[in-house]
Amino acid sequence: MTALLQLEDLHVFYGASQALDGVTLQVDEGQAVALMGRNGMGKTTTISAACRMLPLRKGRVIFAGQDISNWPSFRAARLGIGLVPEGRRCFPNLTVRENLIAAARPGRWDMAQVQRLFPRLRERADQYAVSLSGGEQQMLAIGRALMTNPRLLILDEATEGLAPVIRREIWAAITRLRGDGLSILLVDKTLSEILPFADASVILDRGHVIWQGAPDGLTADLQHRYLGV
Ligand code: ATP
Repeated sequence: MTALLQLEDLHVFYGASQALDGVTLQVDEGQAVALMGRNGMGKTTTISAACRMLPLRKGRVIFAGQDISNWPSFRAARLGIGLVPEGRRCFPNLTVRENLIAAARPGRWDMAQVQRLFPRLRERADQYAVSLSGGEQQMLAIGRALMTNPRLLILDEATEGLAPVIRREIWAAITRLRGDGLSILLVDKTLSEILPFADASVILDRGHVIWQGAPDGLTADLQHRYLGV
């Protein structure tokens, strides 16, 4: 398999406090990788470092064979890293359509494709993003990331706090994207949803990768010790 994203020995600090202490992981082309761990273990920091939103004290970020360790985040995005951030940041005072157009870059994903994936975004096209429900805002956040035509889609807790029916809709959409061959790196805490979906999982504990492998190797003991299950 060809590596798409390689994080090598990442060390990241917030001021004097160390958040990542040598994180190494890889996402191959077409692979879905789940990043797991309890609160505060470094999942969001790992994602932010991959998107080049945080400076590295040490280590490298390689994307599609290029060393992007010193690139600004907009260049990383342009190269094909599409982020759906925690908290689904959309422009509240733009309509759904305007939010999508603002993110658009040429490629396979356009407004019609996104609306096909999430029909609610077609129904709500002229509504302001601020008036959407939490689940609809999450769909819009995913739609915006797709409009950039990424090679890698990164999702940070895409279904957190959403009602079960909406969670199912979002998982169904992400599963379709994966079936289409899109590479995905995602953070999620609901094991029953993430494990059937992922090809590989990585557990972070205090800024370290303490385990990685196929999801069926995630024993009850590991789940208990590192995921608080
Ligand atoms: P959660 O599941 O709660 O989102 P996480 O695994 O994503 O947690 P991070 O948000 O990456 O964890 O945080 C890793 C560590 O870095 C934590 O100890 C956290 O308190 C700290 N941290 C995160 N963001 C900042 C910041 N902006 N300034 C200072 N410390 C931070």
